[in-house]
Amino acid sequence: MRRFWKETDYLDGEVSAGAVVLPAGECAWAARKGCYMCGYSEMERRSSPSSIIHTLSQALRELGEVEYLKIFNSGSFFDESQIPARTRLRIYRMLSSKGFRRVQVESRPEFITPEVLEEAVSELDAELEVGIGLESASDYVREVFVNKGFSLEDFREAVERCRAAGVLVKAYLLIKPPFMSEGEAVLDAVESGRVAARLGVHRLSYNPVCVHRGTPLEGMFFRGEYSPPWLWSVVEVLLRVKKRVRIPVVCHPSGAGTRRGASNCRRCSGGVARGIRRFSATQEVEHLRRLECGCRERWKVELGVEVGAR
Ligand SMILES: [Zn+2]
Repeated sequence: MRRFWKETDYLDGEVSAGAVVLPAGECAWAARKGCYMCGYSEMERRSSPSSIIHTLSQALRELGEVEYLKIFNSGSFFDESQIPARTRLRIYRMLSSKGFRRVQVESRPEFITPEVLEEAVSELDAELEVGIGLESASDYVREVFVNKGFSLEDFREAVERCRAAGVLVKAYLLIKPPFMSEGEAVLDAVESGRVAARLGVHRLSYNPVCVHRGTPLEGMFFRGEYSPPWLWSVVEVLLRVKKRVRIPVVCHPSGAGTRRGASNCRRCSGGVARGIRRFSATQEVEHLRRLECGCRERWKVELGVEVGAR
């Protein structure tokens, strides 16, 4: 798998961003119960502090100058069973004086304590942003359809702790968890963005569900019980949410245009995915509004609800 890459993203305008995936062992939740769509436990069984440090230093060397560094570790950056406290401190020191404007890490709410936030803020010379996988603002969807294992209230309290420490929050939201129709998925994703924005997050990042190997979702996919969302649904969600919130709304669709990822027809998938990335980097809705293809009519029929965000 790719350990690091460059992309463009949005802060107060388009910026260069780097993403790095640290080999930090298994997500504590994946080890116990696990989210239905999550492939993390397959990916990251073995890890050591030295491999984490090695991956990060290689990424820092090869990414060159980026303004926004996004660190993923397939779970929770603040979980000491994934990244020991000493390694975490070493990471902060490695990131110092590198000229980053913003550093993003990811974590489940239960690991986001005032203590780890305070340490991060005092060690880093960049803004800190914590990404939390809320997935859906509906407790029912998150519990029953995703098996996420935390409530909206847990999320809200973690957002409060971040805000109190001067830390930015990014909410990760799913587009089309299992057991939902295309139309229900669009409505749920839009509503979730609205709720997360109201709770005080600083940015929304949408993840159209992608079918990963070895997941319960893959079983449903093979049995014909699940299909990934249309890219038109992603476009629709982004347009509707952008109208309703004042914070950046981004989406970097993984596996777009493949059988296992969000797709349209073969002719337009590439262009629509590019439009979504351009919108994410600029926040200009024109990149979405101008997308057209004959397959949009088929999508409308499948959606079965009124579409009118344009
Ligand atoms: Zn098409």
